[in-house]
Amino acid sequence: MDDDNSMHRLLRELYPLCRSITGEGVRRTLKRIGEEIPVQWTELESGTRVLDWVIPDEWRIREAWVEAPNGKRIIDFQEHSLHLVSYSEPVDGMFSLEELQPHLHSLPERPDWIPYRTSYYQRDWGFCLPHRLRETLGAGRYRVRIDSEISPGHLTYGEVILPGETTEEILLSAHICHPSLANDNLSGIAIAVELSKWLAKRKDRRFSYRILFAPGTIGAIAWLSNNRSVLPLVRGGLVLNGLGGPHPWTYKQSRRGGARIDKVSERVLRESGLSHRIEGFSPYGYDERQFCSPGFDLPVGSLSRGGWGSYPEYHTSADNPEFVTAKSLGESADLVRRILEEMERERRTEDGLYVGTVLCGEPQLGRRGLYGAAGDLDTMAALWVLNYSDGEHTLREIADRSGLALSRLVQAARRLMERDLLTRP
Ligand code: ZN
Repeated sequence: MDDDNSMHRLLRELYPLCRSITGEGVRRTLKRIGEEIPVQWTELESGTRVLDWVIPDEWRIREAWVEAPNGKRIIDFQEHSLHLVSYSEPVDGMFSLEELQPHLHSLPERPDWIPYRTSYYQRDWGFCLPHRLRETLGAGRYRVRIDSEISPGHLTYGEVILPGETTEEILLSAHICHPSLANDNLSGIAIAVELSKWLAKRKDRRFSYRILFAPGTIGAIAWLSNNRSVLPLVRGGLVLNGLGGPHPWTYKQSRRGGARIDKVSERVLRESGLSHRIEGFSPYGYDERQFCSPGFDLPVGSLSRGGWGSYPEYHTSADNPEFVTAKSLGESADLVRRILEEMERERRTEDGLYVGTVLCGEPQLGRRGLYGAAGDLDTMAALWVLNYSDGEHTLREIADRSGLALSRLVQAARRLMERDLLTRP
């Protein structure tokens, strides 16, 4: 199996950038994505109210390091973006080891890994380091310098918008706010870019597609706040993240469950023979939390390998480009392609989705000469088709539920289409 592909190359290129919920790392990431596929940017000023949140001040970081009492630089942000707590405020001073300790973060149980820490909404500063290094620190005065700035600026998110035959949308979303972490954020970004390029080449898109690259939580909230008119058009979506590791796949259902994206994703996984599990919605994880908040309740599920926080490398320096493989990214991208193809397919093929033109009460078949012996319509099949054709059940699913042969339902659907009692979504 090829151990390299465009997704892994992009991931390696983006890996060193220090992303956060605002700032140059996010903009540089969006610029690089824009070299692959056109991205529309939206920038919101600090202080802007978005739903119940406020866009924070922007964090700008130039350098950050700690020097030991002997003058040796022992922690340097230039060497690894995880060394610095994201949103650290500026510091320039001398500290005793005792004073420094509360600002240090390490993992005693994983002594060679650097943890990932943030302090977005509370002013603080800190450094993350391997526990093994921390244990070597002796008494004395340490020089600490963080050349950062937290001041009014912008929050930035990007969208790839691909119009289709209808204005109904499929939303794909990847968060872009983590610094040097490969599976968590970069795998989703790399796959979303790959899928954007693949979708852009398809000329027969029934759906319009929107691929959102936004900082986690606040970015998704900002997008939701800015796109109220788009939301009723969203027919399905997937939050893509953690898709490049070695684990089995997890599909997490939308909050409402049973949406087309849920049924299709579950079936594609089942038929793929790949090792996977299906999980009900829960209000923790990634941006499905925002898309599926009760006021929106969008039909958006989430696909990952391993799931949020479920592997030891999560939020540490061990989540690096070696942990994520090209093969794993390729398999995940293929899986999402199959899901999207199936979402498209069921709007085209005869065993797919229909919508009745009379949904409130049954249509009066007798008046149209369609009822009972008088008509040439298979009444029982027609009643099943009419009742379940709400754009949420395919003929194949209606066949399973009714126990009637699919061919009878297809026949009835043809007759109902001719009499304008049924349309395609
Ligand atoms: Zn994360």
